[in-house]
Amino acid sequence: MFRIFQAGKSVASYNKVQFRNGLRHFTNQQNYDAIVLGAYTDELALANTSDHISQSTRNSILEQLSASNFSKADDLRMLYNVGGISQVAVVSLGDKKSNQNQAAVLETARRAAGLGVQALKKQKATNVGVDVSIHAHGAAEGAVLAQFEFSKLKKGKDQEPFLSVGPFGGLDEASVNGGLNWETGQIYGVSQNLARMLMTTPANLMTPKTFSEEVAYLLAGLENIDIAVHDKEWAVRQKMNSFLSVAQGSDEPLRFLEIHYKGASESDPVYGLVGKGVTFDSGGISLKPSANMALMKGDMGGAATVCSAMYGISKLKLPVNVVAVTPLAENLPSGRATKPGDVVRAMNGKSIEVINTDAEGRLILADALYYLSSKYSLKSIIDVATLTGACDVALGQVFAGVFTNSDELWTQLNIAAQMTSDPFWRMPLHDDYLKAMKESAVADLVNSAGRSGGAVTAAMFLKEFLADKEQPWAHIDIAGVMDCSSTEGYHVKGMTGRPTRSLIEYLRGHTK
Ligand SMILES: [Zn+2]
Repeated sequence: MFRIFQAGKSVASYNKVQFRNGLRHFTNQQNYDAIVLGAYTDELALANTSDHISQSTRNSILEQLSASNFSKADDLRMLYNVGGISQVAVVSLGDKKSNQNQAAVLETARRAAGLGVQALKKQKATNVGVDVSIHAHGAAEGAVLAQFEFSKLKKGKDQEPFLSVGPFGGLDEASVNGGLNWETGQIYGVSQNLARMLMTTPANLMTPKTFSEEVAYLLAGLENIDIAVHDKEWAVRQKMNSFLSVAQGSDEPLRFLEIHYKGASESDPVYGLVGKGVTFDSGGISLKPSANMALMKGDMGGAATVCSAMYGISKLKLPVNVVAVTPLAENLPSGRATKPGDVVRAMNGKSIEVINTDAEGRLILADALYYLSSKYSLKSIIDVATLTGACDVALGQVFAGVFTNSDELWTQLNIAAQMTSDPFWRMPLHDDYLKAMKESAVADLVNSAGRSGGAVTAAMFLKEFLADKEQPWAHIDIAGVMDCSSTEGYHVKGMTGRPTRSLIEYLRGHTK
């Protein structure tokens, strides 16, 4: 049934971060020209208490910190030519007592590594060692995420040297951190950077077709992965008229990616993921205003994060079964485009009056959700979508909104999101919000009921396309967290690639 897509030429190959394996004990055989160290501020002390740093070096670092009033969270001091290393970035870890639970320690490690790596990158360090003594996984995540940049379309940028980052002077913490270590942290970080790359690539270079090719290229050869790239004729046979109605305005052909990861046995449960993949959203005939329309190259963030999570779980070799689908289309106005007032019949037989062609995400997700939930028996199904401006208004750039019919699923997602500091906020789902979506004189549903409760009415619309409405399901609206407006440590200005790490962590939670 599945056509395995062969690796082709990568149009947006992602290769900024190198993997370094196996180096857990500092000797400067790694030839680090710079290191990042963490220090607590309540009782001034380096987190790294190992003999990788000599007592005299330690004393001289602490003297300089004390002399420069190093005392606040996120304080950073650059020291030079210390103990034979040209540049040392010392980053505050805050009070030792505020780093008690694992989620807090992870985030401290992530922030410190991110701030340190970013400062050293600015100062042209090329081979950086990151202190892993407080949490190797968190430090690796922060270090990898902080390195993200998208400069390959700028002339001459590809001539610049790579920044290479490795672990400095740590213990093998895998046993005490539940299997998390430097390598797992790198995979989490690289997966999110992959989503950032897919989302940042301009829409003329990231069409439904090139997105599919890129993802197939990235996943090809990974263990236990099967990929099928479906085309328009397939979607027609499936009667995905709601999805087709969005794609029909563009000359770019649609794609529907279906990715299977089989890390567990046949009899184990299967988890379902769905990602919205509108590679450019002009709004269609209901054209968006031109201000900020360029950001709509990121309207495939759901598809990007879902595919990147599949990359991560495969690299981690997690013992779970997952199937992910992403409908991919461009939403453009043209002589063939869907018009406001048009009625389409979705794959599950329900008719939809398209009131607003800019509410297209739910139209493509409707068929994808029905396809996945009717074809497979799933333990849970999670869709991820840059769906509504209303969710951005409600939650901004901090929390992604989660709408779910399952308290258990919410608890699991929330725990995963707290561990990754890629946070979720639970939003309501209630049948009273569905009434507005049923006010069509000519069809079963409308695709838009206006501004009031817009994020919730969208979620209620999606629920209508589950094959079984009792099926544990969560809809994650990432419209607000799609973009980050400033760089700070591992948070990098631009497309965020969120919630890739939370999805991976959620699936890892089912393997413990
Ligand atoms: Zn739209």
